[in-house]
Amino acid sequence: MEINWQPDPQVTTPLYQQISAYCRQQIQQGNWLVGEKLPAQRQLAAQFNVNRSTIVTALNDLQADGVLSSAYGDGTRVASNTWSLALDWQPYLHGQFNANLPTIQTINRLEGESYLRLSTGELAPELFPQKLVQAKLQAITPQITQMNYLEPLGALNLRQALAKRLQRWHIDVQPENILITTGSLQALDLISVALLKPGATVYTEAATYLKSLQVFQSAAATLTGIPQDDAGLCYWQIPPHSTTQQLLYTIPSFQNPTGSVMSLQRRQQLLQFAQKHQLPIIEDTAYQELWLETPPPLPLKALDRANNVLYLGTISKTLAPGLRIGWLVGPAAVIRRLSDVKMQTDYGASSLAQQLLAALLTDSAYDAYLTELRQQLRQRRDAALASLQDYLADVATWQIPRGGFYIWLKLAPTINVERLFQAALKRHILFNPGTIYGTNQALRLSFAYVAPAEFRQGIAVLAQLIKRARKD
Ligand code: PMP
Repeated sequence: MEINWQPDPQVTTPLYQQISAYCRQQIQQGNWLVGEKLPAQRQLAAQFNVNRSTIVTALNDLQADGVLSSAYGDGTRVASNTWSLALDWQPYLHGQFNANLPTIQTINRLEGESYLRLSTGELAPELFPQKLVQAKLQAITPQITQMNYLEPLGALNLRQALAKRLQRWHIDVQPENILITTGSLQALDLISVALLKPGATVYTEAATYLKSLQVFQSAAATLTGIPQDDAGLCYWQIPPHSTTQQLLYTIPSFQNPTGSVMSLQRRQQLLQFAQKHQLPIIEDTAYQELWLETPPPLPLKALDRANNVLYLGTISKTLAPGLRIGWLVGPAAVIRRLSDVKMQTDYGASSLAQQLLAALLTDSAYDAYLTELRQQLRQRRDAALASLQDYLADVATWQIPRGGFYIWLKLAPTINVERLFQAALKRHILFNPGTIYGTNQALRLSFAYVAPAEFRQGIAVLAQLIKRARKD
C-alpha cells in the first residue's frame, strides 16, 4: 500500500478528517482494495506526519462507518467499498501469471528509494558510455525516415550485426536463426508459452536466476535444481527418461547468482548427454562478455552439433537494460514458432532501440568500451573482495568471480538469511538473499552498481549484523 500524501495543517478541516477522507478516496479510486492491510498505526503516523492519537481517531471514524475493520493480531484492513461505486478488483488479481516472490517485490520497491543497492544486477550509471551512445544516436537520426513495425524476426541489420559478432564465439548462424526479443526475459517467456506443455520439467543449476522468476512456473512447468561441482552442472543427475517434456536451462558463464563457470570439458560432456537423451538446452549468456581476466570457454551453442541449444543473449548487462533488447538463436523452425507468438504478443521490440544497437555493434568503439568496462569491473571486483576479506572472512566464504557482477557469499547454517535481509533493510541496505534463488545459506552481492567505497560501508554494516545474528 503506497502512501505519498500528507494532511495539510494550514487548512481548517481537522487532520483526522483529512486522513479519513484520503483513505475513502483511495478505496473509492480502487487504489486500496477490499481485504488489503493498512500499515501499523505507528507507521501511518510517521507517513502522515501526525500524532498517533490523530491516526486512532481517523481509523475509529472509518471503522464506525464499516470502511475498515480490525482484528486482534491482524491489524487493520479495508473492509468494504459498498458505500462507494468502486468495482471490487480483488477477484481479478489472481490470473494465470504468479505473483513475484514477496522478497523480490520488496527489493523492486525499495530499489527506487534511497537504499544501498548491493542487490542491483545492473551497471552503475557512471559506467554508461554516454558519449558513444549520444554519437550513435546522432548518426542514426537522419536514417530514421519512418517508424513502422519491423519484420517478424527483428531488424535485419541488427541480426546481421549479431550474426557477425556471434562468429567471434565460433557460432556460425544466419540472420534467419536469430529472433530479436524485448530482453532475454521475453525470450524466456516466449519459450515457456510457445514451446512448453503444462507439466514440463525444467532443470536448472541448483541456485539460479530462473528460480527468482515465476515465468516457467506460471506456465505450469516445474523447476528442478541440479547440483554443481567445481566444473559446473552435474548433468548426470538429470533423470534420463521421462514421460513429460524436459528441458535444461543453464547459465554456463559467470552464472547468476553464483558467478560460476562451466568448464570446457563439462560443456562437451553435457552436450553429449543432451544429444543422447534428446534434451533441449536453453543457454543464457547474459554475462558472457564480461570476463575479468580471460574469456570463458566457448558457449554450448558453438559446440552444439545436433541443434540441442537455444542460445539467449542480451545487451542488458554489457550496456543498457533500458534498451530492452535481447536475442534468441536457434533452429529456424523454432525461431519461426517463437516469432509467430511474439507477433501476437508485442509485434516486435522497439525499432529505435534496434537501430541504435545495430549502429553500436558495428563500430569498433563498442569493443573499446567493452575493454574499458572490463577493467572498471575488475577494479570494482577487487575492491569488493578486499572489503569482504577485511570484514567477513571469519563468518562467510566465497569464490573469486572471474566475470559478471556477483559475489556469492556462503554463510554458516546458524544464520537465517531472510532475517539478515530484514535486519539489513532497517539499515537501508539491500542484498539478494539466496532464498530467492532456491538456496538458504547464501546471499548475492553485486559489485557492479554501487561505488567501491559504498560497497565497503555496506559490508561493514552487514558484518555487524551477521555477528549479532550469530550471537542470538
Ligand atoms: N538472464 C540472466 C541470467 C539475468 O541475470 C537477467 C537479468 N537479471 C536476464 C536474463 C534478463 O535480462 P533482460 O531481460 O534485461 O535481457
